Amino acid sequence: MKICVLPGDGIGPEITAEAVRVLKAMNLGCTMEEAPVGGAAYRAKGHPLPDSTLQLAKDSDAILFGAVGDFSLDTLPRELRPEQAILGLRKELNLFANFRPAIVYPELVQASSLKPEVVAGLDILIIRELTGDIYFGKPRGIHTLPNGEREGFDTMRYSEGEIRRVAHVGFQAAAKRNKRLCSVDKANVLDTMQLWREVVIEVGKEYPDIALTHQYVDNAAMQLLKNPKQFDVIVTGNMFGDILSDEASMLTGSIGMLPSASLNEKNFGLYEPIHGSAPDIAGKNIANPLATILSAAMMLRYSFGLGAAADRIEAAVKRVLAQGVRTADIAEAGMATVGTTEMGDAVLAAL
Ligand code: NAD
Repeated sequence: MKICVLPGDGIGPEITAEAVRVLKAMNLGCTMEEAPVGGAAYRAKGHPLPDSTLQLAKDSDAILFGAVGDFSLDTLPRELRPEQAILGLRKELNLFANFRPAIVYPELVQASSLKPEVVAGLDILIIRELTGDIYFGKPRGIHTLPNGEREGFDTMRYSEGEIRRVAHVGFQAAAKRNKRLCSVDKANVLDTMQLWREVVIEVGKEYPDIALTHQYVDNAAMQLLKNPKQFDVIVTGNMFGDILSDEASMLTGSIGMLPSASLNEKNFGLYEPIHGSAPDIAGKNIANPLATILSAAMMLRYSFGLGAAADRIEAAVKRVLAQGVRTADIAEAGMATVGTTEMGDAVLAAL
């Protein structure tokens, strides 16, 4: 198991260091090699995703990613900005399935902006298609109409193959959980989404044990706030998934707690917290490393098939929360807080 560690910018190095400590303490025999990415790579090598970093990623079995983003580089041409590194990795490695669990831990139920009874015990998984849809469809652009007015246009497109492969991922994920899959589309208005629904239903015939339901995206956005516990696994396209997964993450109220995985057909994956580089708190040892530690657990489960080891890390995180250990972002008023390394220490002790 060769893991490529890409710490990136801002709080990235601080939080990945804690996840690396946890992985080492597990004694699983994995090797880890680090490379610069994002703004750090631009400063060191003139590009946010240098060839040497991409090659190391390709030669590895999985990637542990911190975060990229550096506001002082936002004036660079788009192709040199730090965020291009993550887009480049997704494209180069064909990471088409994005897994985002949204779990509400009992101890953090107050952190949600929804009522405790609505979110207590929530454990859902959103699977977002990541490499197709209107974000990549061509033609796109801004042109000038004969009347002199400018017009912007983008193209929503999905091939059957693209829909089929992410649908399989959705059904297989549901099979490992509570056997319910909700496919979210907009089949009532969009032809692309009509095809989406038809293909998902076809694929569903191969998974008779999974209860398949469909929701239009506008209804799904509402249901996620009204009764989020009705869902087990949601599978959806790139744009709808972008919006719904951010909405779902806020049900938990704590951006510093949420891991994610982006996988290709061979279960090669990039694992990262859902938050960004948080420049406002970088270098202060106050960032919450738990989302990155939980991303490492997802890596063990999805890329290496080490479910028991992943369970151990997740149980250690739960224990630490039950003990009342809190970084500032998840502390209730009046609670004592610990720093990034102290939170890592607590997880190691719990392990
Ligand atoms: P952000 O997620 O970095 O921060 C949003 C807020 O949440 C900030 O107040 C931050 O302090 C807080 N926060 C985030 N992670 C935290 C943690 N682990 N512990 C405690 N608090 C935490 O989003 P932003 O401020 O909009 O963006 C900052 C930079 O990150 C930008 O350059 C953006 O493009 C980039 N970004 C990168 C990724 C990625 O690498 N995948 C994702 C989102 C944003």
